[in-house]
Amino acid sequence: MAKTVKCRRLFCFRFILEQSAMDQGGFCAKCYQQQKTIAPLQATESPYKTLLRTPASQLTDRQKRDQLAGSIWFGNENRIDELLSGNTDFLNKAPSSAETWLGVAIARNCHEKVLNRLLQCGCDPNTGTKSPVNTRPLEVAVRDDRIDAAEWLIKPGADPNLGRPIISAISFRKPAEVQLNLLKLVLWIALRSNASVANHSKLFD
Ligand SMILES: [Zn+2]
Repeated sequence: MAKTVKCRRLFCFRFILEQSAMDQGGFCAKCYQQQKTIAPLQATESPYKTLLRTPASQLTDRQKRDQLAGSIWFGNENRIDELLSGNTDFLNKAPSSAETWLGVAIARNCHEKVLNRLLQCGCDPNTGTKSPVNTRPLEVAVRDDRIDAAEWLIKPGADPNLGRPIISAISFRKPAEVQLNLLKLVLWIALRSNASVANHSKLFD
Protein backbone atom coordinates (compact mmCIF):
# COMPACT_ATOMS: atom_id res chain seq x y z
CA MET A 1 0.00 0.00 0.00
CA ALA A 2 1.32 3.45 -0.91
CA LYS A 3 2.34 5.55 2.08
CA THR A 4 0.25 8.60 2.88
CA VAL A 5 1.35 11.64 4.83
CA LYS A 6 -0.37 14.63 6.37
CA CYS A 7 -0.42 17.91 4.44
CA ARG A 8 2.21 20.14 6.07
CA ARG A 9 0.04 23.25 6.20
CA LEU A 10 -1.08 24.26 9.67
CA PHE A 11 -4.73 23.34 10.32
CA CYS A 12 -5.03 21.18 7.21
CA PHE A 13 -5.65 17.58 8.13
CA ARG A 14 -5.81 16.02 4.67
CA PHE A 15 -3.71 12.97 3.99
CA ILE A 16 -1.98 12.64 0.65
CA LEU A 17 0.16 10.13 -1.17
CA GLU A 18 3.80 10.60 -0.25
CA GLN A 19 4.82 11.01 -3.90
CA SER A 20 2.25 13.77 -4.57
CA ALA A 21 3.38 15.49 -1.39
CA MET A 22 6.99 15.46 -2.61
CA ASP A 23 5.91 17.09 -5.89
CA GLN A 24 3.85 19.71 -4.05
CA GLY A 25 6.38 20.73 -1.40
CA GLY A 26 4.59 18.71 1.27
CA PHE A 27 1.20 20.29 0.65
CA CYS A 28 -2.05 18.62 -0.40
CA ALA A 29 -3.40 19.60 -3.85
CA LYS A 30 -5.80 22.14 -2.39
CA CYS A 31 -3.25 23.93 -0.18
CA TYR A 32 -0.68 23.83 -2.97
CA GLN A 33 -3.20 25.48 -5.31
CA GLN A 34 -4.17 28.02 -2.66
CA GLN A 35 -0.55 28.94 -2.09
CA LYS A 36 -0.13 29.57 -5.82
CA THR A 37 -3.18 31.85 -5.94
CA ILE A 38 -2.39 33.80 -2.79
CA ALA A 39 1.34 34.16 -3.40
CA PRO A 40 2.05 33.89 -7.13
CA LEU A 41 5.64 35.03 -6.58
CA GLN A 42 6.34 32.05 -4.39
CA ALA A 43 4.58 29.58 -6.67
CA THR A 44 7.80 28.04 -7.94
CA GLU A 45 9.45 27.93 -4.55
CA SER A 46 8.15 26.84 -1.17
CA PRO A 47 8.89 29.09 1.86
CA TYR A 48 11.13 26.32 3.10
CA LYS A 49 13.26 26.46 -0.05
CA THR A 50 13.33 30.28 -0.07
CA LEU A 51 14.87 30.44 3.41
CA LEU A 52 17.02 27.36 3.11
CA ARG A 53 20.26 29.32 2.65
CA THR A 54 19.55 31.88 5.38
CA PRO A 55 21.63 31.08 8.49
CA ALA A 56 19.45 29.82 11.34
CA SER A 57 20.62 32.67 13.59
CA GLN A 58 18.96 35.20 11.26
CA LEU A 59 15.55 33.52 11.25
CA THR A 60 12.51 34.38 13.34
CA ASP A 61 11.15 31.64 15.61
CA ARG A 62 8.34 31.02 13.17
CA GLN A 63 10.76 30.69 10.27
CA LYS A 64 12.90 28.34 12.34
CA ARG A 65 9.85 26.13 12.93
CA ASP A 66 9.09 26.09 9.22
CA GLN A 67 12.73 25.29 8.43
CA LEU A 68 12.84 22.50 11.00
CA ALA A 69 9.54 21.01 9.82
CA GLY A 70 10.81 21.11 6.21
CA SER A 71 14.21 19.68 7.17
CA ILE A 72 12.57 16.83 9.06
CA TRP A 73 10.29 16.27 6.07
CA PHE A 74 13.12 16.15 3.54
CA GLY A 75 15.61 14.43 5.86
CA ASN A 76 18.03 17.38 5.76
CA GLU A 77 20.15 16.42 8.77
CA ASN A 78 22.70 19.21 8.34
CA ARG A 79 19.98 21.84 8.56
CA ILE A 80 18.37 20.06 11.54
CA ASP A 81 21.77 20.13 13.27
CA GLU A 82 22.21 23.83 12.54
CA LEU A 83 18.70 24.75 13.73
CA LEU A 84 19.10 22.84 16.98
CA SER A 85 22.59 24.17 17.70
CA GLY A 86 21.48 27.69 18.63
CA ASN A 87 18.67 28.92 20.86
CA THR A 88 15.88 26.35 20.71
CA ASP A 89 13.07 28.33 22.37
CA PHE A 90 11.26 28.11 19.04
CA LEU A 91 10.55 24.44 19.84
CA ASN A 92 8.10 25.55 22.53
CA LYS A 93 5.46 25.67 19.81
CA ALA A 94 4.53 22.45 18.01
CA PRO A 95 5.06 22.09 14.25
CA SER A 96 1.27 22.17 13.91
CA SER A 97 -1.70 21.91 16.23
CA ALA A 98 -2.02 18.19 15.54
CA GLU A 99 1.63 17.25 15.83
CA THR A 100 4.62 17.19 18.13
CA TRP A 101 8.28 17.56 17.10
CA LEU A 102 9.14 14.04 18.24
CA GLY A 103 6.02 12.66 16.54
CA VAL A 104 6.85 14.34 13.23
CA ALA A 105 10.45 13.11 13.39
CA ILE A 106 9.26 9.56 14.06
CA ALA A 107 6.65 9.72 11.29
CA ARG A 108 9.35 10.86 8.84
CA ASN A 109 11.65 8.04 9.91
CA CYS A 110 14.32 10.30 11.35
CA HIS A 111 17.46 8.69 12.70
CA GLU A 112 17.70 8.09 16.46
CA LYS A 113 20.41 10.76 16.49
CA VAL A 114 17.79 13.37 15.54
CA LEU A 115 15.32 12.04 18.13
CA ASN A 116 18.01 12.28 20.83
CA ARG A 117 18.77 15.80 19.76
CA LEU A 118 15.11 16.85 20.07
CA LEU A 119 14.89 15.19 23.47
CA GLN A 120 17.97 17.06 24.67
CA CYS A 121 16.36 20.30 23.46
CA GLY A 122 13.46 19.65 25.84
CA CYS A 123 10.85 17.99 23.61
CA ASP A 124 8.61 15.99 25.94
CA PRO A 125 7.89 12.40 24.86
CA ASN A 126 4.42 12.70 26.44
CA THR A 127 3.15 15.96 24.99
CA GLY A 128 0.48 16.22 22.38
CA THR A 129 -2.66 15.88 24.42
CA LYS A 130 -4.44 19.16 23.83
CA SER A 131 -7.16 17.97 21.49
CA PRO A 132 -8.54 14.77 19.97
CA VAL A 133 -6.58 15.44 16.76
CA ASN A 134 -3.37 15.98 18.67
CA THR A 135 -1.24 12.86 18.43
CA ARG A 136 1.36 11.84 21.03
CA PRO A 137 4.78 10.67 19.83
CA LEU A 138 4.19 7.15 21.16
CA GLU A 139 0.93 6.93 19.19
CA VAL A 140 2.78 7.91 16.02
CA ALA A 141 5.44 5.26 16.64
CA VAL A 142 2.79 2.56 17.15
CA ARG A 143 0.72 3.76 14.18
CA ASP A 144 3.76 3.57 11.89
CA ASP A 145 4.95 0.22 13.30
CA ARG A 146 8.16 1.83 14.53
CA ILE A 147 8.80 -0.48 17.47
CA ASP A 148 12.35 0.87 17.71
CA ALA A 149 11.04 4.42 18.16
CA ALA A 150 8.40 3.25 20.67
CA GLU A 151 11.12 1.55 22.72
CA TRP A 152 13.28 4.65 22.43
CA LEU A 153 10.40 6.84 23.70
CA ILE A 154 9.70 4.66 26.75
CA LYS A 155 13.28 5.05 28.05
CA PRO A 156 13.13 8.83 28.67
CA GLY A 157 9.65 8.49 30.15
CA ALA A 158 6.90 8.26 27.51
CA ASP A 159 3.94 6.86 29.43
CA PRO A 160 2.39 3.79 27.74
CA ASN A 161 -0.70 4.18 29.94
CA LEU A 162 -1.65 7.52 28.35
CA GLY A 163 -4.30 6.41 25.87
CA ARG A 164 -2.74 2.93 25.92
CA PRO A 165 -1.68 3.02 22.26
CA ILE A 166 0.36 -0.21 22.40
CA ILE A 167 -2.34 -2.37 23.99
CA SER A 168 -4.93 -0.93 21.58
CA ALA A 169 -2.72 -1.58 18.55
CA ILE A 170 -2.25 -5.26 19.41
CA SER A 171 -5.95 -5.89 18.96
CA PHE A 172 -6.31 -3.54 16.00
CA ARG A 173 -5.65 -4.61 12.41
CA LYS A 174 -1.90 -5.02 12.60
CA PRO A 175 0.01 -7.75 10.76
CA ALA A 176 0.79 -10.78 12.94
CA GLU A 177 4.49 -9.98 12.96
CA VAL A 178 3.88 -6.44 14.19
CA GLN A 179 1.46 -7.72 16.85
CA LEU A 180 4.15 -10.09 18.07
CA ASN A 181 6.68 -7.27 18.26
CA LEU A 182 4.17 -5.12 20.13
CA LEU A 183 3.62 -7.95 22.61
CA LYS A 184 7.37 -8.22 23.12
CA LEU A 185 7.41 -4.48 23.70
CA VAL A 186 4.69 -4.77 26.38
CA LEU A 187 6.70 -7.52 28.09
CA TRP A 188 9.83 -5.42 27.92
CA ILE A 189 7.95 -2.47 29.47
CA ALA A 190 6.55 -4.73 32.19
CA LEU A 191 10.01 -6.06 33.04
CA ARG A 192 11.40 -2.55 33.15
CA SER A 193 8.69 -1.20 35.43
CA ASN A 194 8.80 -4.33 37.56
CA ALA A 195 12.47 -3.64 38.12
CA SER A 196 11.68 -0.12 39.27
CA VAL A 197 8.55 -1.26 41.21
CA ALA A 198 6.55 1.90 40.44
CA ASN A 199 3.69 1.79 37.92
CA HIS A 200 3.92 -1.97 37.60
CA SER A 201 0.26 -2.74 38.26
CA LYS A 202 -0.99 0.06 36.00
CA LEU A 203 0.17 -1.59 32.78
CA PHE A 204 -2.58 -4.18 32.55
CA ASP A 205 -5.49 -2.25 34.11
ZN1 LIG B 1 -3.59 20.82 2.86
